[in-house]
Amino acid sequence: MIITEFNEKRCKACGLCAVACPKKIIRINKDRVEINGLGCAELISNDCIGCKACATVCPDIAISIYREEERN
Ligand code: SF4
Ligand code: SF4
Repeated sequence: MIITEFNEKRCKACGLCAVACPKKIIRINKDRVEINGLGCAELISNDCIGCKACATVCPDIAISIYREEERN
């Protein structure tokens, strides 16, 4: 299982990750931007393929992607 995490303290809602994602599954939650001034990118589906395009393009190193082994 691929885990994609966004650090909301780092994310400034620039949207570059959403543009870079080939699956188009990242959006910027505008409500959060208005509440605390920090953006919060988030996934809108579980279709992440772990390509790391989002993490590579993020200027604030706000995205972590890792694979979690399935537990039986
Ligand atoms: S590229 Fe980084 S800083 Fe920009 S919206 Fe995505 S997670 Fe936030
Ligand atoms: S790792 Fe790839 S598919 Fe997954 S959210 Fe990032 S850009 Fe999209």
